[in-house]
Amino acid sequence: MQSCFTYARIIVDMNVYVTNPHGYCMGVVNAIKIAEQVKSDHPHSPVAILGMLVHNEEVIQRLQKKGIFTLYDTNKSHKELLQEINPSTIIIFSAHGHGKDLEDICNARNIVYYDATCSRVTKNHDLIRQALKEGQQVIFIGKKGHPETTASVSIDSRIILLDIKERFDYHKADLLKPTFVLNQTTLSFLELKAIHQELERIFDNIVINEEICSATRLRQQAVIDIPAHAGLIYIVGSSYSSNTEKLVEVAKKTHKNANVYRIDNIDDIHHSDLVGKKLIAVGAGASTPPELTEEIIAYLRKI
Ligand code: SF4
Repeated sequence: MQSCFTYARIIVDMNVYVTNPHGYCMGVVNAIKIAEQVKSDHPHSPVAILGMLVHNEEVIQRLQKKGIFTLYDTNKSHKELLQEINPSTIIIFSAHGHGKDLEDICNARNIVYYDATCSRVTKNHDLIRQALKEGQQVIFIGKKGHPETTASVSIDSRIILLDIKERFDYHKADLLKPTFVLNQTTLSFLELKAIHQELERIFDNIVINEEICSATRLRQQAVIDIPAHAGLIYIVGSSYSSNTEKLVEVAKKTHKNANVYRIDNIDDIHHSDLVGKKLIAVGAGASTPPELTEEIIAYLRKI
């Protein structure tokens, strides 16, 4: 955030448009509620979330202040972290889902655990298991390394990952076998549509289950609906957050005349960016605390 004195006289008649909905989805609200409940039920035990409960540093810090810690190390897998932790620590699995192998480690080490997996992710896992049981080939579209994708693919070694960042190697798949396709819940539906069209062209016998969750879809549609004359679009959210990243992509794709920036908080607002902008739009990822976005909106409206 810069001092507004320099720019106050040149930023005039600026309106602020807020996308609706924005901010927390039900999966995030639920995960935070579970974490807080676990801590309140076990006030004297160490409580730790395996990985980021939701992909937002602000949320992680707030939980930490309440004595709920985050087990996260970019150089270590969740398995390694679980194998190292003191077994007296109560573990909470994040909203993104987790593999059964992680529960097995907890059971073997007598670690008490709670599950904050979003029901939308659980539904995806059930669909994958069902398709495999029926003998179908399963292709999962997601971002390699994202915890939801890691958890979904870990269900069964037969699942073929189609990484959205890489070109799909069709040699990995049997193009004639009945094939079931589903995806990480937080992808961009514009991007996913193109991938689905390609799969339909290549596979003979394919069922595509588009599993972008409604929270993600509504937030993306709200960004698409930003008035075309908006000159600047701020998407509030963490760089770790897949759904925030996708909102930025959708905004850039659909509002080519606007400058689009992801911002973590009010400190990322540069007054020089506001000059000459009649309409500024603000959206937020599903893991962004609503107070953070409200603060930014109030600040922009005051200028
Ligand atoms: S973005 Fe969707 S799938 Fe992910 S936690 Fe939120 S509601 Fe659940």
